[in-house]
Amino acid sequence: MIVSAHPRFRSIALRSTRSVRLVSVILSLCGCTSLGYHDAGPAFETFQPLTEDMRVRYAPGAQRYAQRVAVFLPAATAQIEALQYRAFRTPPAVNVCNDQACFDRFVAPEWNYTAAVVYDNHLVLAPRLFTREPERMLPILLHELSHVHMGQYRGHYTVTIPVWFHEGLASLVAAGGGADLVNDADAQHAASEGRHFAADEQHVPWQRKRADAWGITTSIFYRQAMLYVAWLRASNEHAFHRLLRQLQDGAEFEAAFAQAYQTNPAHSVRAYLNAMPAAQGGSP
Ligand SMILES: [Zn+2]
Repeated sequence: MIVSAHPRFRSIALRSTRSVRLVSVILSLCGCTSLGYHDAGPAFETFQPLTEDMRVRYAPGAQRYAQRVAVFLPAATAQIEALQYRAFRTPPAVNVCNDQACFDRFVAPEWNYTAAVVYDNHLVLAPRLFTREPERMLPILLHELSHVHMGQYRGHYTVTIPVWFHEGLASLVAAGGGADLVNDADAQHAASEGRHFAADEQHVPWQRKRADAWGITTSIFYRQAMLYVAWLRASNEHAFHRLLRQLQDGAEFEAAFAQAYQTNPAHSVRAYLNAMPAAQGGSP
């Protein structure tokens, strides 16, 4: 999930899932999370499928927004399948709200998100992606589809995979979507000052770490994670392909990483970020 750009502040958003109450507790600790409400299932019953593309469902009054999604969805799903090396297991469900009150039924308003994955791996888009932030609709859609894709294989936003990998991958395959509120220079500048995320020597699922664990913003966290995952792929795409396929097949994260790259993620991330060049940051 994702995203938001508020007049006063901007923050990246994200998802939640199937066991809504349990997930709400776990994912509220993640950068890319959102809260699902107990009535998410019944709320979706008020949505109807779009004639042009049944994968897109819309709330009453949101048909035009849904039609816009339908224009981009075939290419968007193809992009995710190509970059994550596998087809979706089932057609992704994309839901479009007509107004903020609709979106608030699925995502707690205080998160100020613009998209989320909620009940039963349903992706929900906020109306601001069609009004105030139309240029972000496609990149955010791609970012969220990445989460849905991995979620179909591993369970949504599985805690067995570190947040930095979830977000780095989603931002990468979305060509920066979700990590678009800062730029590479911002991320590099922060890293050069020692402000960056780190991978644990051993990933502990019940100790999920998001940006505040390292005293950095969510935007910087996602951008640094994206740059690192991009470097992983560029340095050895064969290994990256192997890693993703093994994760999709249920492999334990550190084991899959070690088999693919012959090192552990903690060492690899540290080496990459320490070698990041200093940069003149400054996004608008
Ligand atoms: Zn995300």
